[in-house]
Amino acid sequence: MEKLKTIKALLFDMDGVLWRGESAIGNLATFFKSLDELALTYAFATNNATKTPETYVKRFKGFGVDITTEQINSSAEVTGSYIANTYPKDTSAFVIGEDGLHSSLAKHAIKIHSTEDIANGAQTELVVMGLDRNFSYDDLSTATLLVQRGATFIGSNGDKSFPFEHGFLPGAGALQAVVSTATGVNPTLMGKPEKPMYLEAARKLNLAPEQICFVGDRLDTDIEGAVNSGMPSILVLTGVATKADLENSSVQPDLVLDSVHDCIALFKDL
Ligand SMILES: [Mg+2]
Repeated sequence: MEKLKTIKALLFDMDGVLWRGESAIGNLATFFKSLDELALTYAFATNNATKTPETYVKRFKGFGVDITTEQINSSAEVTGSYIANTYPKDTSAFVIGEDGLHSSLAKHAIKIHSTEDIANGAQTELVVMGLDRNFSYDDLSTATLLVQRGATFIGSNGDKSFPFEHGFLPGAGALQAVVSTATGVNPTLMGKPEKPMYLEAARKLNLAPEQICFVGDRLDTDIEGAVNSGMPSILVLTGVATKADLENSSVQPDLVLDSVHDCIALFKDL
């Protein structure tokens, strides 16, 4: 609790915290208005690299909440800014991913080479892989050959699977595993629980990690990454993790709340 007294901003996971599928968890408009009144700023973190920030802005709008694209830290956004901040200006990449990843790299002025460019001898320094529901064997072959030749392998996020109505479908991590298996090289990952997601969000908020509280519903991604990044954390019980999971886990948040809405009373009293 002591740790939470110096908090200036909250960083929220979304699914299982703010909504479940299409349904909001409680009144989100009231919730964010209350945070504004407490002068707490906020941003959002998601491993989903397929959607653009604009998609999330629209989604919030549907729940009566006005946010900006800058507040959305998707693993695609983090990948784009990480590359822009880490590699020289003319670095080029081969990308397997959907809209979110392509538009983030384009926004950060990273040159994207197609399979054809590479077949024609274009020098390509990076292989960037996220979930791509239209990938082809050719794409995986190009990525594999580039990594064999020494290209740096970057993954937007390592999620092995993601839920849908009938079970779990292969995620970005499952696709990356094809290239890892073929080359023996594992990707450098950007999304939760890896640090780039947390540190990039902190950089954009212009705060140190210890001034930000992460609010999430999963111990193995949300909370583990927060702990590793030096960010205080709150686990909410509206999503994946249960009280039983918490008892059996070596990863522990600073605080557990029944729902995100309990944050208001908590920070009001601090
Ligand atoms: Mg979640």
